[in-house]
Amino acid sequence: MPYDNDLFRMLKDASLFRQQAYLNGAWCDADSGETDAVENPADGSRIGAVPNMGAVETRRAIAAASAAFAHWRGLTATERARALRRWNDLILANRDDLALIMTLEQGKSLAESRGEIEYAASFVEWFAEEAKRAYGEVIPSHLAGRRLIATREPIGVAAAITPWNFPSAMITRKAAAAMAAGCPMIVRPSPETPFSALALAELAARASLPKGVFQVVTGDAVAISNALMESAEVRAVSFTGSTEVGRILLAGGAATVKKMSMELGGHAPFIVFDDVDLPTASLDAIGAKFVTTGQDCLAANRIFVQDGIYDAFAADFTARAAALKVGAGLEPDVDLGPLIDARAIVKLERQVADALSKGARLLTGGKRHARGGLFFEPTVLADATPEMEIFREETFGPVAALFRFHDEDAVIRQANDSIYGLAAYVYSADLARAWRVGEQLDYGMVAFNGVKMTGPPVPFGGVKQSGLGREGSRHGLDEYMQLKYFCVNGIDRPALKRTG
Ligand code: NAD
Repeated sequence: MPYDNDLFRMLKDASLFRQQAYLNGAWCDADSGETDAVENPADGSRIGAVPNMGAVETRRAIAAASAAFAHWRGLTATERARALRRWNDLILANRDDLALIMTLEQGKSLAESRGEIEYAASFVEWFAEEAKRAYGEVIPSHLAGRRLIATREPIGVAAAITPWNFPSAMITRKAAAAMAAGCPMIVRPSPETPFSALALAELAARASLPKGVFQVVTGDAVAISNALMESAEVRAVSFTGSTEVGRILLAGGAATVKKMSMELGGHAPFIVFDDVDLPTASLDAIGAKFVTTGQDCLAANRIFVQDGIYDAFAADFTARAAALKVGAGLEPDVDLGPLIDARAIVKLERQVADALSKGARLLTGGKRHARGGLFFEPTVLADATPEMEIFREETFGPVAALFRFHDEDAVIRQANDSIYGLAAYVYSADLARAWRVGEQLDYGMVAFNGVKMTGPPVPFGGVKQSGLGREGSRHGLDEYMQLKYFCVNGIDRPALKRTG
């Protein structure tokens, strides 16, 4: 039997549930035979296990990727685009099963998982198209008799280290860009959510991606990432995860001078001026805070509300938060799933206790949910201040902190008072003011009067310690390409030389 958990009998196609790593076109166990168990965060049940691989298997994957590079980069852009298009179509055709796998290992509701699968596929479709548009430049020459040309080349073997909160989209956003550019990609998924990655590998195989072009290595974070970082053949590494781990990887990449792209922590300010339509802003803030149970790098972590509507906003927002349905992702109409692990719960308890000890008011929630396990109540804290831990530290859970502000300059100062700079939200009926504020916010992405802002055409990424580089958009290819300059001498015959 290919699976050991009854829940996977629910899959239409059980062969999407893979418990082996995918290296060089083959399904593999760890050399040691060791495995790591994966649990369902909703009830702690064992979903399955994946190989606990380390440096040796990673080096094997790097060798396979290096071998695949010459062939893959040598294909025409159209051929690579067609292969990606086949992968995209298979992801979409299997969206129900992929969503089920994601909900079981990640905990988010089935509706959110389905949304993520479509989001994940959209990057594959996008980069299938962008593969054909990796244009170079013809440069007007400053030297007589020369032709100056810059081309964009694939950089070489690429690797991705990805988190558990978006187990599929954080892989396709990197892998599709790399593969479109002509680079083989080695993925090391988060140990909490490897099955989504392995299902993507199964579909890559069915899409006839050549062996070694898309590989998934599961196992020890440090052993695998050290092997990737030490290898001179791995030329680009893309990481999505915490700023702490991002710093370690940046240091590791220095030894072989790799191209590094980093999608790191966020600590989004959500700024509400008192001229807004209050119910709309409040409803949007609920979405921005509680989607993915708050475990989202774009989550509204600091909600700043102007004096004039502060109390009314707090009351409306609290009523909506308290009405959110908490439950396992497979239950109908669930809004909030479980947290990913016990450490996340402890962090929430610490942030809440710290805020209350420094004068915050608890408007709803504040503790573990009555159903136990990894569930936490949707929580709202009013009168939060910059002295509280929640002002400095990413929350990554369903705790919302409301800050009161008086004027534009003060809220800009407070919003920018962070090491992070990923996303920010500004709500105001006065678009001139919203724009003025948005321009002064030190964030890579700013949304006005709405929260949905991501997708394949836009450059996703942060400033300051939220990251380096951009994913998606036409810029996403650049993370996996390098410019090469050609100077062609002696083309003009002397007789034809232009003089005047
Ligand atoms: P994390 O940094 O703990 O882990 C991310 C990945 O790195 C995992 O696969 C993990 O196993 C691996 N890892 C952990 N320690 C490592 C080490 N020493 N060396 C190499 N790899 C290591 O982050 P997480 O808890 O999985 O994810 C949440 C974080 O990700 C949050 O900070 C969130 O803001 C961030 N995030 C950012 C974006 C973005 O696009 N900017 C998107 C999603 C999540």
